[in-house]
Amino acid sequence: MRDDCLNRERCRRQTNDVLAASVRARELGLPVSESLNACVLLFGSHVSAMPVDTLVHRVSLRLGIVPPRTSPEATTDVLEAALQPRDYFAFHVNVIRLGREVCQAPRPRYEVCPLSERCGNSQATVPGLRR
Ligand code: SF4
Repeated sequence: MRDDCLNRERCRRQTNDVLAASVRARELGLPVSESLNACVLLFGSHVSAMPVDTLVHRVSLRLGIVPPRTSPEATTDVLEAALQPRDYFAFHVNVIRLGREVCQAPRPRYEVCPLSERCGNSQATVPGLRR
């Protein structure tokens, strides 16, 4: 997790608070993912963090941002390195929207996708997919 916060001490404190709460929640048996931690930091504390949930992972794979079979953790590393921290929020919300409305799990809507000409997967045949 990186930050470009002007107040680094505040960001560090908030990051530590979120991680400590995450550890406590896991001790209580609650399912807390790295993606959830990153969302809390990004949306709740305005600390630059890169949430890579199932949707962001899927779209990153389909777009060819990361090679096939890249893990969510490795995808996080690639995205954090490729983007400026100040762009994490915009990237996240735009990829979430793309994944929900266009690049949907069962059937990517290639015909209306604004990225189809740049997408590494636009001509791919997804197993079980009827286009
Ligand atoms: S072209 Fe298809 S696979 Fe690529 S991002 Fe758009 S909908 Fe997803």
